[in-house]
Amino acid sequence: MSSKAFVSVHALSAGYLTLPERFFVTPLEDPTARKTVPSLSFLIQHTSQETGKVTRTVFDLGIRQKLEDYAAPIFKHAQTRQPLSGDHDTLKSLSACGLGPDDIDIVMFSHLHWDHIGTPSDYPNSTYIIGPGAAKLIDGSRAAATGSHNHFEEGMLDMKRTIELPSTGLPATPPPLEEQATLSAQAQRLAGYFSRPWHRKGHFEAVLDVFDDGSMYVVSAPGHIDGHINLLCRLENGKHVYLAGDSCHDRRLLTGEKGVATWSDAAYPGVICCIHQDKGQAEKTLRAIRDTIRDPGELKEVEVVFAHDWAWEQSAKREGRFFPGGL
Ligand SMILES: [Zn+2]
Repeated sequence: MSSKAFVSVHALSAGYLTLPERFFVTPLEDPTARKTVPSLSFLIQHTSQETGKVTRTVFDLGIRQKLEDYAAPIFKHAQTRQPLSGDHDTLKSLSACGLGPDDIDIVMFSHLHWDHIGTPSDYPNSTYIIGPGAAKLIDGSRAAATGSHNHFEEGMLDMKRTIELPSTGLPATPPPLEEQATLSAQAQRLAGYFSRPWHRKGHFEAVLDVFDDGSMYVVSAPGHIDGHINLLCRLENGKHVYLAGDSCHDRRLLTGEKGVATWSDAAYPGVICCIHQDKGQAEKTLRAIRDTIRDPGELKEVEVVFAHDWAWEQSAKREGRFFPGGL
């Protein structure tokens, strides 16, 4: 396949929330500091060089427009994140530029925390992609975990239209026939893109080349929560964009100025709390991203954007990088 294949990447406004700094970085100058940050989503458009077919992916759906439609524990938790809004959401951001839900082939979630899932049912014909191990968070089999943000809505995704990526440790095999048969025709058509083998690329241990042309890689980015994935995209100018989801919550974690925070909570005595489910893994993922910025190798130049990257959003708005503009 051609090495010149590329995608276009467009930022989408998808709401905002307010985060206390003490949950994310250490050391702190001001333990009471809070920051209102976006929950960025992205439209990624791929055109097949052979057939001209356009495949559109939306990466994350941000905050839900109707906050009251969140499950009660999430709605309650969300109130601690005021100021908070799900307006615009991805649907409104897309429709302002002439795209409707049926133009979106794939909705991919970096992970299933409430501030990234938006309103999945707004995309009634799209195929949902979730990372390895994410499905068990929403199938009702999981006991409640530490932290009020760790509540997941059972049945939030139509599983007939959902593809869970295979574990990175297993040899790639297409899902068994009986499992595929339960997928919608559209999801079955897309399943081939996501049953390719995971492989090492640069500093990343496991990536999956979605279109088999080097234009868009899913990157396994473990540590934050089960099934956390990132996206590495090649632009027409040969530069790369790395969509980091919640691998990072603060630019100073990328520069090394700050470390990942921990804290204790009277509700969970004896437990060291961290915004990441597995702090060690999250730090390893962060290191791979940092190393890629410093030493991009064949990627030439990599711009990293994380979901709550408020400074990036400010300059991107000025520079017209939101849809219909692009990165
Ligand atoms: Zn988040």
